[in-house]
Amino acid sequence: MIIRRIETFQIAPRWLFVRVETTPEQVGWGEAIFPKRVRAVRGAIADIAANIVGSPAGAIEDLWQRVYRGGFFRRGPVLSTALAAVEQALWDIKGRQLGIPVYEFFGGRVRQHVAAYVGIGGESAAELVAGAKARQQAGYRAVKLSPTGPLHYLDDYARIASVVENLDGLRSQMGPNFGIALDFHGRVHRAMAHILLDALAPYHPLWVEEPLLPEHGDLLADLARRTPIPLAAGERLLDRWDFKTVFEQRALAIAQPDVSMTGIHELVKIARMAEAYDVTVAPHCPNGPISLAATLQAAAAVPNLVWQEYNPNLSLASRRAADPSCQNAYLKHPGVIAPTAEGNLVIPSGAGLGIEVDEAQVRAADEKGWEVLDMAWRNTDGSLAEW
Ligand SMILES: [Mg+2]
Repeated sequence: MIIRRIETFQIAPRWLFVRVETTPEQVGWGEAIFPKRVRAVRGAIADIAANIVGSPAGAIEDLWQRVYRGGFFRRGPVLSTALAAVEQALWDIKGRQLGIPVYEFFGGRVRQHVAAYVGIGGESAAELVAGAKARQQAGYRAVKLSPTGPLHYLDDYARIASVVENLDGLRSQMGPNFGIALDFHGRVHRAMAHILLDALAPYHPLWVEEPLLPEHGDLLADLARRTPIPLAAGERLLDRWDFKTVFEQRALAIAQPDVSMTGIHELVKIARMAEAYDVTVAPHCPNGPISLAATLQAAAAVPNLVWQEYNPNLSLASRRAADPSCQNAYLKHPGVIAPTAEGNLVIPSGAGLGIEVDEAQVRAADEKGWEVLDMAWRNTDGSLAEW
């Protein structure tokens, strides 16, 4: 199987699909992220294609090493997601060639399904409760929300009080056993993170995600020692070397690698490292259908994994609207990666990634394209805030 062609498709709402074709004819699919730098990612994938077209498609580890190391300058989200998407497609091809799902390459399946959690939005306790109740009625046992807007380095205690009020309302309405994960999204600075973690601990969050920006990984241990809330991070970490730092800090309870940033095998490798630090894995995946399918292939083979992110509403603007088919779009059999009535995602057992991409639909959608521009949140004094 020789790699013959690598194409990219820019698909609404914000997805970038990669199609790898071989001689003799076999096709595999992958998905990149980083929509705000989509031209750069497409360019990086074209650079990868220039280097590996004509190579054996089955030598995945060797191709990964060549691409990772061969350009001299390595890593960074653009190069990492480009490589991850191509790697997913190569596993898809290898699985299809041998007629087995990708998880078989990583020791086989250790679970039948993984519990899915979903995001909710809302400004007030009433809005958050309505979102969480709707998810609960759909079968989910946990939700995730970002509890704060922009926060300055030192901010008003009124903002803390409003976050606490929302969480108090949510916990009292949802009961003690419903999972409420909180995502600080790297928008909270260290002094405020300490205050918030103390204030929110009585409401028993499932975890707090990105309590600080990823570049402050060395400061996480300090937070972890002072709060009972499990800390999570990893969606902006790229590979084993990034995770090594946070694991050695003994700060994380939950690692959240994103398969469209790490690739499938790298996610499994990170999960194996996590196991040695008694850290669980909850893969990040607010992405499209190929990324979700690739995540599930890795999740199938990882024993130390508890929750899987699932996002029924990919467009942030429509997050409050019900659109359960969204993360399953562009598939011939969308039910393969749709959640069950109990809020679980069943591991697809078909060959490769276990999905059949509707190529005609993908090619048609690519002609429309999309644009996602940078966020620019401001503090009340006009200075730029983290978002
Ligand atoms: Mg997050």
